[in-house]
Order: sequence, then C-alpha cells, then structure tokens
Amino acid sequence: MIEEARKTDIKVKLRKFGLRPTRQRVALAGLLFAAGDRHVTAEGLHEEAERISFPISLATVYNTLNQFTEAGLLREVAVEGSKAYFDTNTSDHHHFFCEGDSSLMDIADDALRVIGIPAAPEGMSITRVDVIVRLAEFPPKICAEFLKD
Ligand SMILES: [Zn+2]
Repeated sequence: MIEEARKTDIKVKLRKFGLRPTRQRVALAGLLFAAGDRHVTAEGLHEEAERISFPISLATVYNTLNQFTEAGLLREVAVEGSKAYFDTNTSDHHHFFCEGDSSLMDIADDALRVIGIPAAPEGMSITRVDVIVRLAEFPPKICAEFLKD
C-alpha cells in the first residue's frame, strides 16, 4: 500500500484540485502518480488496484478517472470510440498509438507540428488539437520496447 508521507502529499494534491481525498481517490491517485507520466485505461488501473489488493469496482475506477479529468488532474485521450485513455501529463502534446498492443506514448514536443488548422465555425473556438500517430508492430517487439507505459 501507499506510505503515509506519500498519502499526505496525495491528499494535498487532491484538495488543491478541489477533490475531497476519499480512501478510493487517494489509492487510485497513488497508483496514477507513482512515477512519471502515464497513460492508463480504467481496466488497466482496475487491474493495478487488484494487484495491491485494494477492493474497488471497475465502475468506481471509471467514475474516479472522470472526476480527476474534470478537476484537471488528468487529460482524456480519445483513441478509439470504445476505449478512453487517461494521461497524467495534462500539457498539450500528441501521441503514438500502437495498434498491436493498444499502448500510448507521448511524442516529443518538437517532433510534430500542426499547421493549417481551420478556423473554428462561428460561435465556437478550438480548445485543443490532438494528433494520434498510429503504429503497427513490425517487427513485433519494437512497440513493446518503446511503449512501456
Ligand atoms: Zn500523453
């Protein structure tokens, strides 16, 4: 489980984003923000919670991820209609998506430029431009090596 000092840091962080630090939120935030930037799905995070024997339903994991996203702690990355990815890196950035193992990886800031963005229709504004560069696994081990999270 999470050590007390980290728990306190997590609680401070949750409060800063306007979230009450419930036991479940603290546990999931502990998994999410343990080390570096990550991309997780609700299913993946649910499995991680099971591995540390923290009892939580998949529905609660989903709800918590959505609450974290609304609060600005996470950013949702839409890759495919059926699956949502949650990114602990909330800055504007683009992604590689590996079609073989459905993993997501950040593209370095200067590696991709988007030019020729159309004007938003009247009365609307562009909030963000997300680019997903899809990768096929060939040879198979390349994706697994690069896309560790
Ligand atoms: Zn990312």
